[in-house]
Amino acid sequence: MSLWCLPPVPADICHGPVPAPNPEFTLKPKKKKSIQQSCETPGSPCSPCQEIVLRQCLGQHIGTEQMMVCSNRTPFSCSNLCGNLLQCRNHYCQKSCHAIIDRSLILDGYAISNVTPESCEECTLPCQKERSPACPHPCPLPCHVKNCPPCKVLIKRSCHCGTMVHVFECALYNSMFEEEQQQARSCGGPCHRKLPNCTHLCPETCHPGKCPSPEKCSKKVTVRCVCLHLKKQWLCHDVQAACCNSKHDMREISRSQFGIGLLPCTSECDIACKKKTTNPEVHQRKITMMEDKAKPALLPKGRKRREHKQEIKRSSKLEKQVFQVITLTAQKWLLIATMVVLLLVFAYFGYHGLFWLSDWMNEVEARRLKNRYPRI
Ligand SMILES: [Zn+2]
Ligand SMILES: [Zn+2]
Ligand SMILES: [Zn+2]
Ligand SMILES: [Zn+2]
Ligand SMILES: [Zn+2]
Ligand SMILES: [Zn+2]
Ligand SMILES: [Zn+2]
Ligand SMILES: [Zn+2]
Repeated sequence: MSLWCLPPVPADICHGPVPAPNPEFTLKPKKKKSIQQSCETPGSPCSPCQEIVLRQCLGQHIGTEQMMVCSNRTPFSCSNLCGNLLQCRNHYCQKSCHAIIDRSLILDGYAISNVTPESCEECTLPCQKERSPACPHPCPLPCHVKNCPPCKVLIKRSCHCGTMVHVFECALYNSMFEEEQQQARSCGGPCHRKLPNCTHLCPETCHPGKCPSPEKCSKKVTVRCVCLHLKKQWLCHDVQAACCNSKHDMREISRSQFGIGLLPCTSECDIACKKKTTNPEVHQRKITMMEDKAKPALLPKGRKRREHKQEIKRSSKLEKQVFQVITLTAQKWLLIATMVVLLLVFAYFGYHGLFWLSDWMNEVEARRLKNRYPRI
């Protein structure tokens, strides 16, 4: 049997001409007529192929195949979105099912040459990737394939003691380990934060966290007795220990009272005071005064601050009132002076002005008469 019959589609696409059954291998009697049509007359065109085939949609979506007669080559779109991965490799095409430009135009056994393939969408979104190392700054590029470039945003971080502010490139700072970050943030100068238990400043190099061992402060402190006559040099940690024993809260002792009253008054104090005042009662009074003076220093800081604020308020109010009275008086006197000056000016110019006017009128009259009677 020859294959002369020229099918309307290429032989590899359609089932092609079907040769007449070989009588020797044909079951007899043949009751069912085959759907396949054979080319009975060599050289004549085949009748349309009636084979039932499964056809895929234009977008080649899985599970959307339709049963179609082989010769029916009408392309169809399914109800899915295209879903093809876009060039940005992050997003998928949202167009409805369409023939894709870069796929083979021969789909599952039929040509779609009469269908113009469409290109997928173009991604216009900004980059939505998470940056590495993670940071809150968005990537400046439009949606892209490769990793994001390192974040160049400048971030500010103060040093541990608060003396200066460092500026870091975000990616550089965030790629450091925590320890490295802490190190990079140190200003390298002395910490100089006030120690919690004494009046001294931390001598350590700018460091994170609390100041280490403030109870071991070894600065020198002048300690005195209550009447201030005796004095000695102690190390700060000894002063702290002594204050601890006397159950004074270190945080509430003011700078000027630090170390005062730690030495007990001796007979020396009495003698010294006698020399000065010749009266031990006065010395006693002085001691009481000193103790009284020391008391406000032991008042809670908040109360002290409140009282101080109120005092400032009161004095500033008084100052304001005095200033107002002065300004009002000055304004009154200035007004009176201006009025007097104006009156004087008017009187002077008014008086002289009258004379000048009468002179001028006389002159005009004389000129007129002269013109009228030139011989006189
Ligand atoms: Zn489809
Ligand atoms: Zn994209
Ligand atoms: Zn698409
Ligand atoms: Zn960043
Ligand atoms: Zn990016
Ligand atoms: Zn610092
Ligand atoms: Zn410190
Ligand atoms: Zn100290």
